[in-house]
Amino acid sequence: MVFPFSDVKDFNIQLTDEHELFRKTIRQFAENEIAPKVPEIEKTGEIPEELIQKGIELGLTGVGIPEEYDGQGGGALLTAILMEELSRVCPAYGTALMVNGLFTYPVLKYGTEEQKKKYLPPIARGEAFSAHANTEPAAGSDVAGIQATAVKKGDKYIINGRKIFITGADRAKYLVVSARTNPPPDRRKRWWGITFFIVETDWPGVKIGSKFKVIGLRGEMPDEVILEDVEVPEENVLGPLDEGFKVAVDTYDHGRIGVAAQAVGIAQAVFEKAFNYSLQRTAFGRQIMAFQAVSFKLADMITQLEAARLLTYWAATLSDQERDEAIFAASMAKTFATEIAEKVALLGIKVHGGYGVDEEVGVERFLRDSVITTIYEGTNDIQRLTTIRMLLKKALGIDVLSM
Ligand SMILES: Cc1cc2nc3c(=O)[nH]c(=O)nc-3n(C[C@H](O)[C@H](O)[C@H](O)COP(=O)(O)OP(=O)(O)OC[C@H]3O[C@@H](n4cnc5c(N)ncnc54)[C@H](O)[C@@H]3O)c2cc1C
Repeated sequence: MVFPFSDVKDFNIQLTDEHELFRKTIRQFAENEIAPKVPEIEKTGEIPEELIQKGIELGLTGVGIPEEYDGQGGGALLTAILMEELSRVCPAYGTALMVNGLFTYPVLKYGTEEQKKKYLPPIARGEAFSAHANTEPAAGSDVAGIQATAVKKGDKYIINGRKIFITGADRAKYLVVSARTNPPPDRRKRWWGITFFIVETDWPGVKIGSKFKVIGLRGEMPDEVILEDVEVPEENVLGPLDEGFKVAVDTYDHGRIGVAAQAVGIAQAVFEKAFNYSLQRTAFGRQIMAFQAVSFKLADMITQLEAARLLTYWAATLSDQERDEAIFAASMAKTFATEIAEKVALLGIKVHGGYGVDEEVGVERFLRDSVITTIYEGTNDIQRLTTIRMLLKKALGIDVLSM
């Protein structure tokens, strides 16, 4: 009945009054502070620094970081609510703040105590930002195909390589960087021989290159990062040597719940706009809501949106319970929610007619933003592979990676 789960209680979502109080606080902040700045963000492609500062003052950069490292604590569910509420108003703002998670998660999980004490508190307090540099010109989904190298020289590693599409690199003080430390032993173990490093952006040889002008998330367009003979002290190796592939996969398995939540926020925003518009707009002497062609679209939008939210909150709950199945649920949630966000955004545009494609109205930007959610942190094709891989593991004990 509940295959591959064993108990109907596995489908619990553990929301509390604290979550609701937090959601209300973030909504108020997003509507009062961020919303008025959205037209400027869309036009300039930049989030004003004072707006980032306001988020820091509210403690948002500390969410998900334990209190012992100056953070606010909070798990995957609280982080998902934060991402959803920020993205309901400005998905780019959500990305700008939450990209830290792609640095803090692997440091928390794989870092030494010294690394945690050095790098997490400044991020939690908002004094430093961070980014995750893995993708390269010839390797995105195929993490094992990266070509950056890290060569041991005494007690240092010398890193050379080029990373692309790195969100937040221009604001970052710290990066996690993947590089090949050893060639793979054979074709079947291509993933072996990659290592992650913590690199500071003001070290000699680190250059933040050009910005990618991508379709959406206009306030947080990713950057190129060039690494030329960057000397990294041995103590900045993050996680096990040569096993960085697992660090990457684990980081994305966790982080994609945030992307699912971002997609839920996008779908929520468009639904609300379309619903309100359908009551205000008249055609042929009637509110357009009176036409089934419109009201059925709205019914489909809210059905899909709520299903996406349930899947996302469920994945987050499983993650907070440190359940293995969280990976499976997170991949399904990311795929479903991001594809729903695209569909809902498109339907929302249609409900608005011509105004839907007018930038001033502020609906079309959500479609552009939603497209990116289907690509970053692992394309949805890769999510489908993960879903099946996890299903085979759970149901039959088959580990595809070791085959
Ligand atoms: C706005 C934005 C921000 C980003 N931020 C970051 C960041 O901060 N850090 C970072 O490291 N990266 C970042 N990325 C990179 C992102 O993670 C990659 O673009 C993504 O993983 C896809 O890799 P790719 O672009 O190389 O596409 P490819 O891997 O070349 O994929 C091309 C197509 O082939 C399909 N495909 C590939 N392999 C398979 C397979 N095995 N089975 C089925 N289909 C497959 C893909 O689904 C896709 O449709 C960002 C990207 C964007 C657009």
